[in-house]
Parts: sequence; C-alpha cells; structure tokens
Amino acid sequence: ECVVNRIAAGEVIQRPVSAVKELIENSLDADSTSISVVVKDGGLKLIQVSDDGHGICYEDLPILCERHTTSKLSKFEDLQSIRSMGFRGEALASMTYVGHVTVTTITMGQLHGYRATYRDGLMVDEPKACAAVKGTQIMIENLFYNMAARRKTLHNSADDYPKIVDLISRFAIHHTHVSFSCRKHGAGRADVHTIATSSRLDAIRSVYGVSVARNLMNIEVSDTGPLNSVFKMDGFISNSNYIAKKITMVLFINDRLVDCGALKRAIEIVYTATLPKASKPFIYMSIILPPEHVDVNIHPTKREVSLLNQEFVIEKIQSVVGSKLRSSNE
Ligand code: ADP
Ligand code: MG
Repeated sequence: ECVVNRIAAGEVIQRPVSAVKELIENSLDADSTSISVVVKDGGLKLIQVSDDGHGICYEDLPILCERHTTSKLSKFEDLQSIRSMGFRGEALASMTYVGHVTVTTITMGQLHGYRATYRDGLMVDEPKACAAVKGTQIMIENLFYNMAARRKTLHNSADDYPKIVDLISRFAIHHTHVSFSCRKHGAGRADVHTIATSSRLDAIRSVYGVSVARNLMNIEVSDTGPLNSVFKMDGFISNSNYIAKKITMVLFINDRLVDCGALKRAIEIVYTATLPKASKPFIYMSIILPPEHVDVNIHPTKREVSLLNQEFVIEKIQSVVGSKLRSSNE
C-alpha cells in the first residue's frame, strides 16, 4: 500500500516547487499576514515555510497528514469547489510519503506550541510541547529520499530555487496584504522580500524592480457576461518602453494562481498588432468570475485552467488592453 501511496504522492508533488506552492496556499488559507520560505539544495534537502496564521489545534495533529483530511470542506455545497481548488486534503499527506515532514504550530491563546513529525501519512510519536510564537512552520526534509530516479533527474537538471523565487514573486504581488520572503538556507539576503500593506505597484517594484514598475499601466474591466455572470479584471500591463526578452504573465483567477494559455496568447497578439516594435510584455491580472465558470485541469500539478465563457472574457480583455496600448502610444 505504501508504494502505491508513494507513487500517487509523487504525482501530486512532482518537484520541490510544487510542494512550496501547496504550503504557501495552506498558509494563505490560514489567514497569515507573513509567510517566509527557506530552501536548501533547491528544496531537496529542505523546504521550510513559516507563517503567522491561525495555527493547527492539538486535536487535529494526529490526523493532519492522513489523506483526505481537510478542515476546508464542511458543507455539501463545497463539493462544487473541490475541482477548482483541487485535491482537498492531499497535499500534506502526499509530502509525508515522499519526504520527512515536521509541523510546529500554535493556536491563539495557547501558552506553548506543539511539534509533530510524520512519515507515510502517519504521525510519529506524540506531539511534543515546544516554544512557538504564532502560526505554523512546516518543514519538508529530504524530499524524494525514497524515489531514487526522481532525485537523480532533479539533481541533474538545474535546481528548483529559481522556480521557487518566481512562484513566490507571483504570490507576493497579488497578496499585497501579506509580507513574503524567500531565501536560501544560510543566506543573509532574501531573494524576495515584500512588506504587507504596500500598494500593488510598490509590491511589483520591490519584486520585479523599478524598471518594470515605471513602465506599467493600470487596467480595469467590469462587465456582465453570458448568463448574467459578473466578470471583473484588475491589472497592470507594460507600455511600449518596457524591455524584456520573454513574456511575464502573472494571472490570478478568484485569488488562485493559474495559467491560461489561451488568454496569454490572445494578449500577446494584441501587443504585436498594436505595438509591433515593443518587447514581450509584462502582465499582471486578477480576474474574478463565478467559481463554477472556472474549469481546472484534472492533473494535480497543472495550473492550467479554461473558462466557461472563455471567448467573452478573452475578447473583453483584448479590447481593453488594445485601447490602453493605443492611447498610451499616441
Ligand atoms: P487542504 O489544504 O486541501 O485542506 P492539505 O493537505 O494542504 O489539504 O492540508 C491539510 C490540512 O492541514 C488543512 O485543511 C488545514 O486544516 C491544515 N493546515 C495545513 N497547513 C496549515 C497552516 N499553514 N496553517 C493552518 N492549518 C494548516
Ligand atoms: Mg492545501
């Protein structure tokens, strides 16, 4: 059974960066206002995510890493959102089949926290009382220690650290009420560092740099699509002075970090048509749609989504981007 679970877990957690994404989403779900990530050896030796969220109560620790244990599905209607949020209660469990997991946590009003370790879906020993300030720290050590082939492939390719920095950069410019940091283990300097309560543009400036931020324009759409579905978009797009060799598209739909290839291509087309001499664009967009209009791909690690009224949404965005680019270029 364990081997089967390990293979399944290896599908959910394909690389160190997939583990980091799951851990950050858990921290965000716990209403954290500060999330810091430490990574060693591209995440293979250590991934540590610390937050100041609501913590995990003592009673939940023994079952925390059993598959399908989740505190986030209480009502039957919530089943509707299972597909969009994906894999309820599987992330943490999966990590225990492919790495060594240690959870340190404290809930509001407690005098001390608890530390528990997990292997193969089970808690090892009783949780130990320990000092803790606020929130939860999850440590994944020796990821894929029991998957020799995976470890070897990952070791031979460039390590995941740049991917992790990229991921956290994206979260940081969207969740501006949360401060994020990301550093290599032992490094004095953080590679991503944002301060909560900064404006979106300030966050983009601190993550992507001044030369990006000063060439951005704000765009907004609010409209009612087919079937009375309200659709909102708020974002920043680069102008003709922005210089880059490749496109950066940071897309959140209903506050979830996703990819939408069709939308990305559609926007690139508008850029080429409107500003033929401009470089590849930088685009940040936050889209709000009725949740039942967002279709998440079945595969656990894919961020790719398709939308129910995709043509409507894409045409709207194309027209707003197009007119913004034209007016800025006059
Ligand atoms: P899911 O997020 O789909 O519920 P996970 O396997 O990612 O499943 O996490 C299992 C459960 O562990 C969550 O439902 C939540 O109750 C708890 N949990 C995990 N990480 C944190 C955290 N950082 N802060 C508070 N609770 C957490
Ligand atoms: Mg989760």
